[in-house]
Amino acid sequence: MSSSPFLDLAAVAAAVGATRSKNAKRDLLAAYLRGLPRDDLPAACSFFAGRPLVDPTAKLGMGWVQQGAALTRASGADAESVRAAYLRHSDFGDAAAELLERGSTVGRAPTVAEVASTFEAIAGAGSGEQRIGLLADLFARAGPESARFIGRISSRETRIGLREGLLEEAVAAAFDAELGSVRRAHMLTGDIGEAALLAAANALDTAALHVGRPIRFMLATPVADAAEVMRRVDAEAWIEDKYDGIRAQLHISADGTIRLFSRDLNDITRSFPEVVAAAESLAGDGPLVVDGELVPWREGSVLDFASLQTRLGRVRPSAELLAEVPVVLVAFDLLHLAGRDLLEAPLRERRRALEELAPPERTGERILLAHLGSARTADEVERQFDDARERRNEGLMVKDPASTYQPGRRGLGWLKLKKALATLDCVVVGVEWGHGKRRDVLSDYTFAVREADEPDARLLTIGKAYTGLTDAEIATMTERFHGITLEDHGRYRTVVPEVVVEIAFDRIMRSTRHRSGYALRFPRIVRIRDDKMPAQTDTLASVEALFMDQASGRILLATGADGETERIRTTGEAGSS
Ligand code: AMP
Repeated sequence: MSSSPFLDLAAVAAAVGATRSKNAKRDLLAAYLRGLPRDDLPAACSFFAGRPLVDPTAKLGMGWVQQGAALTRASGADAESVRAAYLRHSDFGDAAAELLERGSTVGRAPTVAEVASTFEAIAGAGSGEQRIGLLADLFARAGPESARFIGRISSRETRIGLREGLLEEAVAAAFDAELGSVRRAHMLTGDIGEAALLAAANALDTAALHVGRPIRFMLATPVADAAEVMRRVDAEAWIEDKYDGIRAQLHISADGTIRLFSRDLNDITRSFPEVVAAAESLAGDGPLVVDGELVPWREGSVLDFASLQTRLGRVRPSAELLAEVPVVLVAFDLLHLAGRDLLEAPLRERRRALEELAPPERTGERILLAHLGSARTADEVERQFDDARERRNEGLMVKDPASTYQPGRRGLGWLKLKKALATLDCVVVGVEWGHGKRRDVLSDYTFAVREADEPDARLLTIGKAYTGLTDAEIATMTERFHGITLEDHGRYRTVVPEVVVEIAFDRIMRSTRHRSGYALRFPRIVRIRDDKMPAQTDTLASVEALFMDQASGRILLATGADGETERIRTTGEAGSS
């Protein structure tokens, strides 16, 4: 069957965006998906989920600058008009629709399959010039209404108020399947398009994890203190140390291929050759998937997170760097072993299997097991917390031994307690030239939280801080901010909100200076969170909760915290400019 016109998909997206009713959104989508040629299902589902590529690990590799250049080329407008259109709409798709309205379309309108294959070609293109050319051609053929949704997909914001849960409901409704079975298939395959195909073929019960393809990581819910831990667990809390490194999934395929994936599902195999070498010792036990944390480690103890930072982003670390900052994988979960998916087995069983599979001596102590303990009272939790800090770890993870593994979900099966430092994940919306020796670099960042945990929430500024990054990192970030500048006001420039920063601070205050209605006292940038998407940053509700917790003394803020904060540069009063 031939592929369906992309314009139909764009029209459904517009209709879904135009109604606030969840049921109406679901029904519109279900009707569309049901009538779609099967071959179009995976791509259509990815597009509605805001993903240009069906393969969840693939990246388009096209930032705002190149997308803007493609639009410039397709519309005949100059770069300044493109920038102005983006600013008017705060949306790349709307800007594309407006600018292409004036031009005439060239060539035949694209089908769903053609849009999908163009995105694939962009991801595989060798140069920026090729990527720009491919997207420009697609825009030129698309016409304004299709271009609006193509622009939104390529910038990964569909703006149609569609959560993944609703897409799962639509798939279930489209093919008369059980919602629970669709969810399970989506969870295991990590791909709503594959779940839709299985639903259409009435084969949801065959869904399985693909070793070699990462699935989303299970997340934890923050708790304020030991008393809250005890309120949330039944009798006995199962407690692991919370290691301060980067999350990683280790996959060993049936043919022995070893791959490591980061939390944002990037392939980071080549950056950690020592862990890969250690994993070879496990290859004989069949295909497997291990979840854990990569941490810098020497002589039986963790090193400072800052040292790990020198390893991040190095695709091929030098021998000196490998010797200077050795890294281990601290394993805490086993999701697949020898043909059997374990996600639905209780943690107790997964941990036992992990211990049998990977005792540290088997991997030359390059793959370790997370420190495990238990507690029956809040006092015992406190003691474990102090012990974890003594081992130089960040805090505790409290896990329910009966819980299943829930990819991508922040459930109550895992709680995290890291009393030491309250931080907020914010997105950078503006940058400023520094002072003194920093006058030639963009070193002051203005950052914002999201108004609500909604797909297209507004961004509300909450503070401004100098970076605590090294000079080399600041130079790299300056380049990056040049590329994503929206408005240049001389000293200050607004930027495309895509860089996530973790901010520590001493207090939250109410303030009229920032749009959030709050300001942070002595904010400082702890780190750039390249592993987080802007849509995963903190919300106004989390700021309000922290504000209340601070009033009741339930959280420890950064004041007087240990040496951990010393590497971070402090700035003056919140928001001062
Ligand atoms: P956060 O990044 O503050 O949301 O905390 C959750 C993160 O803690 C996870 O994504 C892991 O990267 C990390 N982590 C460290 N130790 C553990 C552990 N034992 N179990 C689960 N996650 C851990």
